[in-house]
Amino acid sequence: MDLLNCIKEAGIVGCGGAGFPTHVKYAGGPVEYLIINGAECEPLLRTDRYIMKHMGEQVLKAIEAVGEMLGAKYCRIALKKTYTEEIKALEKVLKQQKSKVELAKMDSFYPAGDEQTMVYEVTGRVVPPAGIPLDVGCVVSNVATMLGICDAMEGKSFTGKYLTVTGEVKQPTVLHVPIGTSYEDCIQLAGGPKKSRYFIVSGGPMMGARMTMEEAKDAVVTKTTSGILVLPEDGAIAAKTQISLRHMFNRAKSACIQCSFCTDMCPRHLLGHPLYPNRIMRKLGMAGEVSTILDDKDIQNAALCCECGICEDYACPMGLQPKRVNQVIKGALREAGIRYTKEDTVYVADKNREGRKIPAGRVAARVGVLPWYDLKIDDLKEGTPDKVEIPVSMHIGAPSQPVVQVGDMVTEGQLIAAIPEGAMGANIHASISGKVTSVGKRIVIERAG
Ligand code: SF4
Ligand code: SF4
Repeated sequence: MDLLNCIKEAGIVGCGGAGFPTHVKYAGGPVEYLIINGAECEPLLRTDRYIMKHMGEQVLKAIEAVGEMLGAKYCRIALKKTYTEEIKALEKVLKQQKSKVELAKMDSFYPAGDEQTMVYEVTGRVVPPAGIPLDVGCVVSNVATMLGICDAMEGKSFTGKYLTVTGEVKQPTVLHVPIGTSYEDCIQLAGGPKKSRYFIVSGGPMMGARMTMEEAKDAVVTKTTSGILVLPEDGAIAAKTQISLRHMFNRAKSACIQCSFCTDMCPRHLLGHPLYPNRIMRKLGMAGEVSTILDDKDIQNAALCCECGICEDYACPMGLQPKRVNQVIKGALREAGIRYTKEDTVYVADKNREGRKIPAGRVAARVGVLPWYDLKIDDLKEGTPDKVEIPVSMHIGAPSQPVVQVGDMVTEGQLIAAIPEGAMGANIHASISGKVTSVGKRIVIERAG
């Protein structure tokens, strides 16, 4: 089987973002640059750093194979220059293997791992607004995705996930658990919570999904889970999440002083994209309702927002939430069927961009996670839960169609849900061996014996 089909069969999806099926991404044709994202952009997460430090050989094996398949002239692992131990480990492997893969050492700023920011940092090319890296001859994949591809090359399906569990837990750690493991099991593997009440962020503190302890009880590890942060229930992130949409809109209308800091620091604006959060806030303030201004170009440009959170968690002196406003506008644009119209323009990054990079530590302090920012996490714990609940939709595209029934016995790695005929999607495999006890939006498997 060729590598592309091997990746498709194994059900690999991008581990660093929304879960785009990797075989579809790589079917786009030859590229000049294969960029491997090892920036681990979000404060507190350590998963990619663990992989780069301890599993460089497997990562490199996949990069070489994917680079060859895509005809890439350059293969570069992009990471922060402050990751000295990871750089040392990778340089050792590169030297041993006499590899042509290079390291691109970036400043330690947020959001260094944003795909479009990374393309610019590594190549000097600006991905056009609403475009993809392929538009400028690049493909970006995460280091954890490479690990999955290495397994696929050895005939193994994508059934296990590496993730960081940190914050208010007794033993912050990197975990390797079967997909479908509950968050509760993961938190217990990290020694359990320090306090009886807590707040959860799935992913990083800036862009991760925020949930109450009660909401998190139903959460399970998917192919895209990069971390579980256990944070104080009365902390800054929890408090911000509790602001109602109506209250947030009223404040946006009455308190924006049009200082433009949100625009000046916006990483997409700094790449030259026509995204002006301050204008969006002003126009919303004047109109009162999003639905009445959807034909305005500045409002439509909210579609270019990557939801990094710089504007509201770092830039705004009034504590307003331009990112959240953009999320609402993006939803309204989708509902109204209004798509971003690409323009035939050459985009050039702002000349002040370098000076406006925000150090990662400062972002951590501003968002209220500094107490856990410098934790040394270099342990790996394996999870072996008795039960997994595997969602049939944990990637971009159509939900996978179950090919098992209640009562079936399955073995780890066996196909349990397939890509629907003619659709874009990803195969899903049993992450433990056992008996299928439920088939629906999740396929539940209980360990045999
Ligand atoms: S979240 Fe704010 S800073 Fe980030 S891209 Fe969107 S508008 Fe710009
Ligand atoms: S930073 Fe805040 S106050 Fe300043 S323009 Fe943006 S939303 Fe308004």
